[in-house]
Amino acid sequence: MAYRQFMAASVPIVRTVMPAIRGEASLRDLPGRLSNVARSLRREPLATVRDLRGSYDTLLRRRLPSDLTRGPVAAFAAHAAVGPTLAGGALFAFWQAAYHLFGQWHPRGGAQALTDALLVRLAQLGGRIRCSASVERIEAPADKVTAIVLQGGEAIATRSVLTAIDPQTALLRLLQPPLAGRHGADLAAARRGNVVQSLIHVATDRLPPYPGAREGDWNGLQSYVDRLEDLSSAWAGAEAGRLPDPLPLYAFTTSALDDTLAPPGHHTVYLACPAAPAKVDGGWGACSDRFVETALETVESRAPGFRASIQGVSTWAPEEMEDVERWPGGHPMHLDIALDQLGPLRRTRRLGRHRTPIEGLYISGAGTAPAGGILGTPGRQAAEALLEDR
Ligand SMILES: Cc1cc2nc3c(=O)[nH]c(=O)nc-3n(C[C@H](O)[C@H](O)[C@H](O)COP(=O)(O)OP(=O)(O)OC[C@H]3O[C@@H](n4cnc5c(N)ncnc54)[C@H](O)[C@@H]3O)c2cc1C
Repeated sequence: MAYRQFMAASVPIVRTVMPAIRGEASLRDLPGRLSNVARSLRREPLATVRDLRGSYDTLLRRRLPSDLTRGPVAAFAAHAAVGPTLAGGALFAFWQAAYHLFGQWHPRGGAQALTDALLVRLAQLGGRIRCSASVERIEAPADKVTAIVLQGGEAIATRSVLTAIDPQTALLRLLQPPLAGRHGADLAAARRGNVVQSLIHVATDRLPPYPGAREGDWNGLQSYVDRLEDLSSAWAGAEAGRLPDPLPLYAFTTSALDDTLAPPGHHTVYLACPAAPAKVDGGWGACSDRFVETALETVESRAPGFRASIQGVSTWAPEEMEDVERWPGGHPMHLDIALDQLGPLRRTRRLGRHRTPIEGLYISGAGTAPAGGILGTPGRQAAEALLEDR
């Protein structure tokens, strides 16, 4: 009942925020949007505003009496890389209603299928792509882009560059000369905490055998976060470089919905810890085995027989993400998601519309407005800005 009421209260908030996430709203609309939320929640407008400004730890303790619902909602909110005690983080718990409204999406064939589809579209439009071409410098003498220089020294003359990497790396390291002055200092001050995700892919010959599971139970997130406090203390520990114990963990078993992911009679189990330290005491090399063991045991304790179904295990630790994905600090959102680093303030107000003080240079990607994730909005907005300026 409490969960149902919480979701009913969350729907108008999700509907109000959605245009901003799609990049169809501006900061000027904000007061109007907030009053829409307050109007649609006539009974408790002030409490709603207070809730939105608060953390989801506080919100969930107030709204949901049982850890049976608090734990999974918190696990999902943490999936957005937002800490439980962060002011303004409550929005990500309200976001739970979005899963009821729009469902959860997975590209058939896995995440790579989305990239492949975009490549096909680009080719259809006459675009060309070069892979494995690492950009070493963006040349912009006199505050105007003139060229990019690849690793190995090849220079490509251009009037426009649109980056899709961490904005600090793009503007403070690759850009020559680097962004200076107030805007450079603002960007350098953007925060990136130590709490990120760590991942384990497990190949199995059956879905996790939860006792009493019904058909459809494998379609969404399977949370192993038993108590909200476990997540909050894990987050604080990870920020300080400690591996969480108990381990906040959840699973997705997308092969239950997508038969292209595994051979017949086999499955994929995606185990993610949303509160893993990027830099861990002793280094990931030393604690990776312990992390995997704890994660597999966590699933086994809920689904006896899981370990016997395992065909293979592959880990994806933050240090590997830092190397392979080139995510500073292993951070998939490039910069922390926080009230002062979101929407048109991501990051910074001057850079929030994807233009930079350098003529011809535009930024997009997870560290830019409106937020990180597989959104498409930052890239679309940056491309629109570039086309408008041309
Ligand atoms: C375990 C996990 C689960 C997640 N789940 C979800 C989810 O369910 N939903 C969701 O929306 N988000 C999810 N995310 C977050 C999401 O993956 C990221 O926010 C997203 O991939 C960021 O995309 P991007 O294109 O902005 O940047 P990136 O993915 O960082 O892409 C930038 C690319 O640029 C390349 N690059 C970097 N530097 C250079 C250079 N100098 N020259 C050339 N190329 C360079 C990098 O190699 C990289 O390929 C998850 C993240 C993790 C770690």
